[in-house]
Amino acid sequence: MAVGTKLFCILMWISCLYAVSIFIFTKGFLLKRLEIPNKSDCSIRLEEQSVFSMRTQEGGLFSDDAYGDTPHVGLGSQFHIDNMCTAQDRFNKSIILLIDALRYDFLLFNESLDATGTLPFQNKLPIIQSLIEKKPSHSLLYQFLADPPTTTMQRLKGLTTGSLPTFVDVGNNFASSEVEEDNLIHQLVKAGKNITFMGDDTWESLFAGKFAKSFPFPSFNVKDLHSVDNGIMKHLLPEINQSDWNILIAHFLGVDHCGHRYGPYHSAMGEKLSQMNDVISSVVENMDNDTLLLVFGDHGMTGTGDHGGDSNDELTAGLFIYSQKDLRKLNPGLAMNAYRSISQIDLVPSLSLLLGIPVPFSNLGMVIPELFMFGADRKSPEVLDHLSLLLAKYHPAYLRMEALRINSFQVKRYLDSYSRKVDEFPYHISAILEQKFANAETLFHNLQQNLNDEEVKIAIDGATAMYMEYLSGVKEMCRGNWAKFDLLSMACGVVLTVSTCVAVWVVLNFVDGIKDREKIEDTLNSLLGNMLTGMITIFPMSVIITSQVEDLMTVKTTILLFFPALGSILGSLLCVLQTQGMPCMSDVLLYIKHTPKESLCSSGLLFLYVVSLTSNSFVVYEDRTAVFLLQFIVLLVYLISGIRSLIKFKRIKSRDIGRILTHPVAIVTYMLLAFQACVRLSSHFRICREEQVPCSQSDLLQPLLVFDPENSTYNNFRYIKAVVSICLIPFLLKFWLQKQGNLNGSSAASVCIKYALPTISVFIFFHWGLMSLPEKVLDKLPMWQQTFLAKCVYVLSTISIVSIIWQPLLIHILEREKKHQHKFHSKGEHDDQVVPRLFDYIKSSFQNQNGRGKQATTVTHEKIQETPAVFGLATTYSACLLQLIATVILVLSMLLGDGFSPALTLVCVQVLLYLELVACIRHAQLKIFSALPELKKMALLHVTWYAVFGWGLMASQFFFVTGHHATFPSIRFEAGFVGFNGDFPVYLYFIPAVLIGANTFSSNIIFGLALPLVLLWPFSRGKLADKKNSDNEGEVVLRDHCTELRIGLFRLVMLYILFHGCKLLGCMFSAAVHRRHLMIWKIFAPRYIFDGIGFLVTLVVVLLAYLFILRTDNQLAKWLARLFKIVKLLRDSR
Ligand SMILES: [Zn+2]
Ligand SMILES: [Zn+2]
Repeated sequence: MAVGTKLFCILMWISCLYAVSIFIFTKGFLLKRLEIPNKSDCSIRLEEQSVFSMRTQEGGLFSDDAYGDTPHVGLGSQFHIDNMCTAQDRFNKSIILLIDALRYDFLLFNESLDATGTLPFQNKLPIIQSLIEKKPSHSLLYQFLADPPTTTMQRLKGLTTGSLPTFVDVGNNFASSEVEEDNLIHQLVKAGKNITFMGDDTWESLFAGKFAKSFPFPSFNVKDLHSVDNGIMKHLLPEINQSDWNILIAHFLGVDHCGHRYGPYHSAMGEKLSQMNDVISSVVENMDNDTLLLVFGDHGMTGTGDHGGDSNDELTAGLFIYSQKDLRKLNPGLAMNAYRSISQIDLVPSLSLLLGIPVPFSNLGMVIPELFMFGADRKSPEVLDHLSLLLAKYHPAYLRMEALRINSFQVKRYLDSYSRKVDEFPYHISAILEQKFANAETLFHNLQQNLNDEEVKIAIDGATAMYMEYLSGVKEMCRGNWAKFDLLSMACGVVLTVSTCVAVWVVLNFVDGIKDREKIEDTLNSLLGNMLTGMITIFPMSVIITSQVEDLMTVKTTILLFFPALGSILGSLLCVLQTQGMPCMSDVLLYIKHTPKESLCSSGLLFLYVVSLTSNSFVVYEDRTAVFLLQFIVLLVYLISGIRSLIKFKRIKSRDIGRILTHPVAIVTYMLLAFQACVRLSSHFRICREEQVPCSQSDLLQPLLVFDPENSTYNNFRYIKAVVSICLIPFLLKFWLQKQGNLNGSSAASVCIKYALPTISVFIFFHWGLMSLPEKVLDKLPMWQQTFLAKCVYVLSTISIVSIIWQPLLIHILEREKKHQHKFHSKGEHDDQVVPRLFDYIKSSFQNQNGRGKQATTVTHEKIQETPAVFGLATTYSACLLQLIATVILVLSMLLGDGFSPALTLVCVQVLLYLELVACIRHAQLKIFSALPELKKMALLHVTWYAVFGWGLMASQFFFVTGHHATFPSIRFEAGFVGFNGDFPVYLYFIPAVLIGANTFSSNIIFGLALPLVLLWPFSRGKLADKKNSDNEGEVVLRDHCTELRIGLFRLVMLYILFHGCKLLGCMFSAAVHRRHLMIWKIFAPRYIFDGIGFLVTLVVVLLAYLFILRTDNQLAKWLARLFKIVKLLRDSR
């Protein structure tokens, strides 16, 4: 194995360590709720009861009969109270109209608004209001509160199982899997009811094979507002009039997709809601007396039409319940406050009992009490006993209490079996709750005694209140508890991250400090060997520990991963200690003393940055923090070392204005100002996160077509900006590479740069143009025409990337005439200094021809005949990397959308200025070595820490500049459909996931890929202060120092990983510390998750970039070998 491969192994090892620490920490941090597989079943009561008796004996709170046995058979005549699992059905059939993202205020009707004053979503569902007014006892309207995360699949699970979602489930949204827990659908099917389903096909994946009849439609394409809804409307009324169903579910997606595409403030939303109004009206007209109609949203939407988070607008959906017969008694004494808010899971027990099926086992919802306050129309009121007369008076209230009682028993059953598996509920809270349940039961049993009128009322009301308190108490307790953390795993994750950061730092300095390059292979061998030994020795130990100690069984994976990882770190540290000896205090002080001031400042600033991640307001305003730190560190470097070293070596002697203005200091100052201006300008491209107030929301995220066609100046201006910026990237690349002579050949890669990249950008701006067409025009085009351009971009960019990886050398040699050949003297094939001499040779022969020393940029055809030249050697390494980056940037810019294209180009310019600035300062600092070019090259290969720190900050800045935030609502889901219409078969679900991931982590991808430029840039650029002595050999000298190049690159990658590792540590630490913080799921947890995934992306990309440079180097070596073979042949033949 060569040195490069060994260093790569170390990088891989470090990456794995970080990945393992992220995994361990995440495992402890995002715990899943334990799913209980039990299903509610009225027939298997005996077993349940024995469990219950067992508990009663322990607790002594209840008597056996509390379980709903013999004593009160007479009382609960109308409920199957001997089962205590359900009530007699009140409705035979139910129609469920789920209008995705139906926010509560969409359902309201405000008469005071006139037609002109309404917002597009207001007063568009007048049918609701008219039903409430005309038939108040038949209709109920609620605020229907969702539990975050407000994604459709999470909500569907909640709405059918009645359980609370856990955070980790968010990720499942892309490949939804079947619901394992007991749920409404399961219970309905078991009760022999037929379900007809139509709409969003997510249901099909959640409840495969449960529907008697099903009309699923693909839900993926958020741009498609109509096809799901139109499909439903085609089938809805005919199906309602059929008699083969008990439950009819129709899940409309148009409102949600309209929100995603246009937001609620667009006239399309008004049209969509009016359409829904018509649907509801016709359903109401067509339904019979025995049917219950439910119209609700699974979540709301934000002002921009998105959802997923936990803002009030996202949580507040609406629920409207209607039936042709009386739903409730309009008795003011008993009626509950209408328009109140209920939890979405409350629908589960309510619907179950109304339809006469058992409440799903894991349900935590509470029946909606007023739905059970009916009286006269009950089906079997015959059997009434001695209390019947009294109870008849309070019949509605009694029924309400009974429903709550069945519900409480179900919840208690669930809680008991849950705590038997995991004992995690706080004792004092569950004791209070049990007491409430016992009190309610006591009051209930009081009813059997001979009570007078007043006492019955008190008992019923008291029991009702107690059951309700019990149910809501349990819900709160579970909600608080299921964000329960595995502290051991979290601690292991943090410890491992810290140790990995330390290991990175130690190994980095160790490899860097190996003086004897001859021995480097041996040293690396022993380092790798020690790591492996450390890991292998500890592994059996951790296996034994986990199998012996029972308490550790639950955290088995953590232990099995943690100790071997730690062992390998210890092994490597031991190796370093053996070789270098124990460092003493003076060594450390010496090290600090020799570290440049800028680098110490960078470390200090990094520390501040990491610490700032533990404060919620700093996380919220991280976009500003990153910009500030970036501007500050660049200014600092410029002030501390830039100016001083530039002035030192070239004093301003004359007072000539021209001289002063072109002095290196002046030029560097211009660059600094331009850089700062770019940073400021690009920071205008940002979106607001919810917590940033006040903040004016940018409209860049909205697609172009959202805007009023009348406002065409704005539209055109924005489109032109996007077009100019997207074209600038291939143009700049072509210009630069042409100047360097990289494009003279006809290799596949140079053809790509010349033709494919400009074509890509043309396709992209035509694609944007197409997408900004009005919807009606666009929808007339066939689907393949809508996505054709984007698909072409994918194909072309793949070709471009493959070609550059296949042939990474953008150099070209021209044949020479024989009269010049004698000038090249090679002493032998195995000559170390062959490249510079080759270069000298080319240079001198070229000078003879043209009288100047620069490499040819524009060579006419005649000259080519006589000029021997190798083109593009000066930028061998960076040219191909730049090509790769440009291709990736173009594709990402299409994914990011036209709004952010100028930001992308601005950041590219900013990055170039940064590289140039840092290179100039570095050259100025190293001018002292001018006489010793070899030493200077070594120093240039030794990348400074501040340069890497600034690079990392730019990566952070770029994340925000491209319209992202570390929050779930800010994920740009529409990126998954660029170039695809959304009908992905299951095995292609990775495509939208990859596209959305690329959009979200574009900064990690671009800055990781471009990282080697930090090392390569000073070799070809930035020789401002050192013009006279500068050689023009460029990057090709690196070939002669291939080991140094590998170590330099290794060092660079390690430093960058260290930067990200520290950031990750900050996020991890703050997530752990603030795990009980009010804002944990809103601020800290998303910050950690984004950073964790982003870090993994960075690791992969950086390793790929390292491999790419290695490949270029190997190819160059082969090319040179071939060249000298030819030269030798020619010489021999002469
Ligand atoms: Zn939804
Ligand atoms: Zn949605």
